[in-house]
Amino acid sequence: MSDDPLELDAETMRRLGYQVVDHLARRISELDAEPAWRGASRAELQLLLGGPPPRHGESFEAIFDQVRTVVLDHAARVDHPRFMAFVPGSGTWPGILADFLTSGHNIFQGTWLGSAGPSAVELVVLEWFRTFLEMPAGAGGLFTSGGSAATMTAVAAARRLRFGSHDPRAVVYRSRECHSSVERALFFLGFAEAQLRVIDTDAELRIDMQALEAAVARDRAAGLTPFLVVANAGATSTGAIDPLPALVRRCREQNLWLHVDAAYGGFAVLTERGRGWLKGLGDADSVTLDPHKWLYQPFEAGCLMVRDARALEAAFRVVPDYLKDAEVVDRGPDGPPPEVNFADRGVQLTRAAKALKVWVSIRMFGLDAFRAAIDRTLDLALHAESRIRDSDVFELVTPATLGIVCFRRRMQADGPDADAANAALVRALADSGVGLISSTRVHGRFVLRLCILNHRTRRADVDRVLDWLDAAARA
Ligand SMILES: *Cc1c(COP(=O)(O)O)cnc(C)c1O
Repeated sequence: MSDDPLELDAETMRRLGYQVVDHLARRISELDAEPAWRGASRAELQLLLGGPPPRHGESFEAIFDQVRTVVLDHAARVDHPRFMAFVPGSGTWPGILADFLTSGHNIFQGTWLGSAGPSAVELVVLEWFRTFLEMPAGAGGLFTSGGSAATMTAVAAARRLRFGSHDPRAVVYRSRECHSSVERALFFLGFAEAQLRVIDTDAELRIDMQALEAAVARDRAAGLTPFLVVANAGATSTGAIDPLPALVRRCREQNLWLHVDAAYGGFAVLTERGRGWLKGLGDADSVTLDPHKWLYQPFEAGCLMVRDARALEAAFRVVPDYLKDAEVVDRGPDGPPPEVNFADRGVQLTRAAKALKVWVSIRMFGLDAFRAAIDRTLDLALHAESRIRDSDVFELVTPATLGIVCFRRRMQADGPDADAANAALVRALADSGVGLISSTRVHGRFVLRLCILNHRTRRADVDRVLDWLDAAARA
């Protein structure tokens, strides 16, 4: 018997671990037979799960049983082949194992001293991403919890490098189609309403360049300092891609930092088609990516890429006395490449090793497998688009763009009744368990939205969801 109240013997660790692995392997291989979503109210779950912490321990088996059947069961299967709502995430097994491994090794990836191997892997993966995006040599960044944290880090870096600290004259421009995380980053960072400009979009929901230029000129004339533009490469609502080459050109001329939110859409560059659509992305000053979306990693894995990785360190590095032992030394341009303390590049000191899952899964499957998976989802979105075009029940609102298709039920007239009829379809499909889609607004109209990114989704899944919606709309 150990006198450590929190330690288990090796045999017990193995036995419990195998139960978890067996459960996960079964869950993933039988996903198709599961509902795409199961929810419950807070009151119901409180009744099942609530209560004070126990004074004495319980058996793992009993807890695990409740975790499986009550806790984890009441959730969306975001990785289900017919989960086409919001932005799906469908992690791959080597990625899941890598997370388990880094957790089991309790890797602290804030400093090189604390994690030389995992930090080296993060540098390697960032270099892969640099080449995917065709960013210049010297570009790099860091892994974050997700796209929201990546964008907030980019805005903080851009402001700090330009102004040192807060400057009430600094003005930020963003597309009306930007993700809510952009607005949130701006108020988290203390920007006042008077420093923010929301730029309208054109018929295709791309940022209106003339409106942007006019706003910048107006602010300059008023003695303000325009400094940052946040644009989209795959807006969450419709997949809209802003005119990146034109934005790059104007932002350079105007000395504006261009941040492109490519959280979900960015990894489409791995395909031939995606590379064409996203031309110019690698010329941005910074880019948000979410490997936990279209790069098939389990949550969480976000990433910020900047044109000059050292700029992040220049912006954020703080070395307190109690971390002096972990400080890294740069021996200059003729010396060896300096080590990186990833804590110097962002907001987190203690960080999990999130790049390892990308490294392990891309090595195990090969990049071509990822390209093929992404390519197939692009084809499936086109298939959905063509079915909706041919439908007499539904009308297409936005064509397949980076995996997203928006449509709505044909109705006599627009208005609250039409919106309610469309919203009822979203709910009814969720309740059926067959699949899950979500909704948004396009030019103010309520629309249904399919987002097809999952490597497990097949044509039969798209057909099943559309057939179901078709039948429900006719009923
Ligand atoms: C998902 C998404 C975000 C937010 O990223 P998180 O990883 O959820 O924090 C931001 N922008 C876009 C375009 C997204 O698709």
